[in-house]
Amino acid sequence: MGRETLVTLLIMICGGLLLQLLAAWPSGVAADADPAALERQAWLALCRPVAFVLMSMSWLIGWALIEPDPVRDPLDPGVVLLLWLPFGLLFARAAVRAAWSLVREFPECGVSTFGLLQPRVVFSPFLARRLDEPEIRAALAHERAHARHRDPLRIWAAQIITDLQWPWPQAQRRLFHWLEALELARDEEARREGIAGTDLAAAVLASMRFIGELPAKQQTRLAGTQLVHARLIGNEKTLRHRVSRLLAPLPVPSGAVPLKLIGLRRTLLLLTPLMLAAMLLGVVYGQRIMQPLLGLTS
Ligand SMILES: [Zn+2]
Repeated sequence: MGRETLVTLLIMICGGLLLQLLAAWPSGVAADADPAALERQAWLALCRPVAFVLMSMSWLIGWALIEPDPVRDPLDPGVVLLLWLPFGLLFARAAVRAAWSLVREFPECGVSTFGLLQPRVVFSPFLARRLDEPEIRAALAHERAHARHRDPLRIWAAQIITDLQWPWPQAQRRLFHWLEALELARDEEARREGIAGTDLAAAVLASMRFIGELPAKQQTRLAGTQLVHARLIGNEKTLRHRVSRLLAPLPVPSGAVPLKLIGLRRTLLLLTPLMLAAMLLGVVYGQRIMQPLLGLTS
């Protein structure tokens, strides 16, 4: 069997297995009063399993670097393919859903932010006519906060991670908690820019009414998990809690690390040396572990 083929299959088997095992990991998200800290915790809880997958992938690549090509007398290819099949199907399902969320017709949701690389705010003129100027400003401030943090891309990635952990309910819960915390964090960010909580609450409720009056077909398209865009209304199930927070005085900042400091760049800075170390371990110990495991001849 070709070395690259074998290592690709093994990466999918190990990655899929790790994601399934780690899916049951409790989220450990504390009910923090600070929405920014809550969002950060929920995001890390959601992404944590991916870090382990990247480590195992790096280790296997390290092993493959010193393994002769083609791999001599590996474990029966039929057995490897059989082990790969459930994870291959899971990966295919996640890939199809991710692709579908990108190409499907964009649902009408009043005001929302979409675009993976260059997020844009879309504001329905029919909704705008129902709002006064401070409410429009409030809705735009909330959506611009989504755009600043590239939330459509993060929502899309979060959905893929959750799909790869299907059908575990814990993974769905982590996604739900993160989306809930995300809306609270963006509300607070808009309010810290000077937006009144009452204006934002009014805009959210007007959006809900607007969507409630849409034809049933359009409402069906909106149902289900958010896949690739951030909306003003967020999750309808948590609306009461969100509006009550908006009407309460703005809490004093907790002094937590600003969200942008744990963004993509910092994550890569943290992960890259760890992945290189895992790859080095794969180079040094890979053959010793993999040869008996796969029945390879030296
Ligand atoms: Zn939102």
